Amino acid sequence: MFGLKKKGPTQPFTHADDCKIVKADPTVQIEWSEVETGHWEARCVCGTEYFHDPFTEDRGDRLDPYHPSTFRHAGECEHRDTSDPALLRVILKVRDGAGGGYWWVECATCEHGWQVPHYPRPPMRLMPPPK
Ligand SMILES: [Zn+2]
Ligand SMILES: [Zn+2]
Repeated sequence: MFGLKKKGPTQPFTHADDCKIVKADPTVQIEWSEVETGHWEARCVCGTEYFHDPFTEDRGDRLDPYHPSTFRHAGECEHRDTSDPALLRVILKVRDGAGGGYWWVECATCEHGWQVPHYPRPPMRLMPPPK
C-alpha cells in the first residue's frame, strides 16, 4: 500500500496584509505541519493558523453536530463533557442555520447556542499578539 500519506489542510495560509515574508516573496507557501493527529498548524512571521480536523479518519469530511469537539457549552453547563449520544439528542436542539452551510445547535441545559459548519472551514485565524 502506498499513497496514503496524510495531507494537511488544502487551503492556503492567509497572510496578514503587511506580511514581510509575502512582500519579499509573493509566491511563498507556508507548510502545514501536523502537531498531533488531526491538529495542523502553519506558522509565518505574520501569524499562526490552526486547523482541527478530528473527523477525517472515520466519518468522512462532514462534521457531526453531536460530536463533543464541536460543543460550545457555557463553562458551568453540567453537560459540557457529555458524549452519550442518546442524552445529547435530548439536550441538544439541532436545526439548519439561516443561510445554510451550518447547523445551529442549542443546549437546553445552559441555553447556549453555537454554529457547527457542515464541513470543516478554512482555519481559524489567530493574529500575533501586539508588540
Ligand atoms: Zn505571512
Ligand atoms: Zn450546555
